[in-house]
Amino acid sequence: MSKREQELSLRMMNFPQAIRPREFGRLLSRHASQAREAIRTYFINHIGEIVPVSEVAIAAETTNVRRLVWELTFQDGLRVISERGNDPAVGISLGRSEYCLFDDTPDYSMAHRWFLGRRLRHEDHLDATQSILHYFQTFATWALTTEELATVAGVRSFGERIRYLQAERGFPIATKFTGRPDMNPGEYLLETVERIAEFHDRRVSFELQKRVYERDENACGICGWNRRSWSRDDPRFLELHNRVRGGDPRPGTAENLKVLCTRCHDDVHAGRTRI
Ligand SMILES: [Zn+2]
Ligand SMILES: [Zn+2]
Repeated sequence: MSKREQELSLRMMNFPQAIRPREFGRLLSRHASQAREAIRTYFINHIGEIVPVSEVAIAAETTNVRRLVWELTFQDGLRVISERGNDPAVGISLGRSEYCLFDDTPDYSMAHRWFLGRRLRHEDHLDATQSILHYFQTFATWALTTEELATVAGVRSFGERIRYLQAERGFPIATKFTGRPDMNPGEYLLETVERIAEFHDRRVSFELQKRVYERDENACGICGWNRRSWSRDDPRFLELHNRVRGGDPRPGTAENLKVLCTRCHDDVHAGRTRI
């Protein structure tokens, strides 16, 4: 119980006539909303830092941190990641009871997305991987946080499942480290529902993808296109192409792999361009 709650309950005991139970409830809920605002301010003042739940509790004078952070995330769209959304592959390394706010622009569409997320979580006929895929396909081109993806999946292995969908099933799921340097750490994004990678371009580990995108500086190896040139009229994105020699698709190695924009990649596969 916080100091303010203690004070209030003392007043209740000493002056039962002074505050009626209904009023007590109202004061308490006002206190909760103050705590919630204090938590929001605390996160914004510590952007990009890893903060333990105990510090947040002290700063906001509340013991109800988890619940309030959940509300701030899924109702107000504050892009907070907790231990639940831990995923070192995309730059989020959080220990037990730690939080991080990595972008102070609220995502007002989160509450809307979460309507569907909650439904998916309780769909018995979908396994975690299918729930993740359904969520990606519904919100294609939206940057989704590890926090919401973990919550939709309901399993700790959500990151591996996302990378399975990308590397084995060929869904064009991008991250800050694989073709979308404009994105935040801790985000995944399905570029489109209309395209999956060719078989010979799949099965490249996430680590190797990261290395190749970094080496090729997130730009097309043929025309030099990068994300800064993106426009609605020309909505391409970057992919990996595995150069096949003599019709023999070899497993991807850094030497075989090249970053291409979707347009040049189509030209290569159609034989219009040679690399
Ligand atoms: Zn290109
Ligand atoms: Zn290819």
